[in-house]
Amino acid sequence: MLDTQYFKQKLETEEAQLRQDLAQISTDKIHPGHDDFEAVSAEPEMFMETRDDIADKLENFSEREATTETLEVRLRDIIEALERIEKGTYGKCKISGEDIEIERLEANPAATTCKSHINED
Ligand SMILES: [Zn+2]
Repeated sequence: MLDTQYFKQKLETEEAQLRQDLAQISTDKIHPGHDDFEAVSAEPEMFMETRDDIADKLENFSEREATTETLEVRLRDIIEALERIEKGTYGKCKISGEDIEIERLEANPAATTCKSHINED
C-alpha cells in the first residue's frame, strides 16, 4: 500500500519551494489564479544606460524567462500529482496502469510512468 500522505508532503514541500523561487524572478499577477508566471526584470529601469548595460540586462532577463519556464513546468507537474492523490490515481503508470516503483516516486514524486515506460512520458 502506497503511503500517499508521505508523497503528498514531499510534493507540497516542493510546491512551496517552487512558488518561492518563482516569486523571486517572476510575477503571476498578469494572469492571476492560473499559476501562469511571467519573468520580471532584475532591477528598476535606470537612466543613462550604456549599450553594455542594456545587453547584460537583456541576457539576464532571458535567463530569468528560461528559469521561469522550467520552474513553471515543474510546478504544474507537482500540482497534477497532488490532484492524482485527491482522485486516488496517484502512483499508477499512465501507460500501463501498473504501480510506479517506489524508488522512482522517491526520486521524483511527480512521476507519471513506471520505469519501463520512462521514455513514453
Ligand atoms: Zn508503465
